[in-house]
Amino acid sequence: MSAFKIAVFEGDGIGPEIMKPTVDLLRRMSSVAKTYDLTFENLPGGAGCYTDMGESLPKASLAVAGAADAILLSAMGLPDIRYPDGTEITPQIDLRMAFDLFAGIRPVRIPPGGLSPLKMPAGKSVDFVLVRESTEGLFYTQGKGKVEHDEARETLRITRGTSEKLFEFAFNLATDRKAQGQGTGRVTCVDKANVFRAFAFFREIFDKTAGEHPAIEADHAYVDAMALWMVQRPWDFDVLVTENMFGDILSDLGAGLMGGLGVAPSADIGQDHAVFQPCHGSAPDIAGLGVANPFAMVLSAAMMLDWLGLRHNNTEMAKDAARLREAVDGQIIGRKALTGDIGGTARTDEAVAALTDALFAAA
Ligand code: ATP
Repeated sequence: MSAFKIAVFEGDGIGPEIMKPTVDLLRRMSSVAKTYDLTFENLPGGAGCYTDMGESLPKASLAVAGAADAILLSAMGLPDIRYPDGTEITPQIDLRMAFDLFAGIRPVRIPPGGLSPLKMPAGKSVDFVLVRESTEGLFYTQGKGKVEHDEARETLRITRGTSEKLFEFAFNLATDRKAQGQGTGRVTCVDKANVFRAFAFFREIFDKTAGEHPAIEADHAYVDAMALWMVQRPWDFDVLVTENMFGDILSDLGAGLMGGLGVAPSADIGQDHAVFQPCHGSAPDIAGLGVANPFAMVLSAAMMLDWLGLRHNNTEMAKDAARLREAVDGQIIGRKALTGDIGGTARTDEAVAALTDALFAAA
């Protein structure tokens, strides 16, 4: 039996409303699991924490999170609570920096019968992963940009070290996916190498890493073309790898393709740590109303089980991750107990009750 400690940030806005039921599901899965055991520790962090404690990510929280096997985070930040310089409170970005979580993983899946504003050709389904570099790129000067008189400047930074780690991660991901019968074994570098030297440098490093993975197909796309292709033929892609800002934008496009932010999970992964959180923010407009969609959080938890399972050679965790995904897919395909953001009328607790039934009713 492998024991794993999970650090939990319930965060702000709808954060606690989607985190609590997700942790309940995980606890229940773990309680019947034969080969793994999960324990959870709630940690203060976020805009509410900043108001209460004067810190958005207390050192003690960071230390516990750093010692945990994985970190689950819902959403942090509220528009009205800001640092004295007027910037938003984003401890989720601080966590990426503190733990060097360079690979932002944003899966885009549309199973047959799934949600999508696209008219899907018969027999087509979408299953690709966007890997977004998450510690540098155009976010390098985040909060440190210069505005002088009539000019504003930010800096885009691409380093060889981080790019090599990022591309290695992307090729390994494509290799794992191919081994699992998911994806064709292809990595596409998304850049703007025709205009910017920094991206020509990025592409050069990509090509070198590609040469070390001959079993995986490698190609390139300009980011503007990729935005078009993600809408016109998203079923053609397997693993896309890109810079931070491009990834930020394309991942919301990906979320839109599969029905919206309420169903879009993500993970930020480094060599030794990983944070799993939905793509969406704290949704203050619906906080406290009991109508938040829990699916993105649940799917992020499934990614956590997958990651832990792969790292620790635990096939039961991978199976439970697949069960969570299948239960969410089943509910979406059956258009059963869906929340308002994806066309239903269910409240959060009704959506969770249907999910719980699908997962455990037969047990
Ligand atoms: P951030 O900048 O922190 O990413 P944001 O301001 O872009 O946040 P979100 O908080 O993600 O925005 O919310 C965008 C819209 O999507 C809001 O109208 C919100 O209510 C809706 N939304 C986000 N997450 C969910 C969810 N889980 N369930 C239902 N609606 C959601």
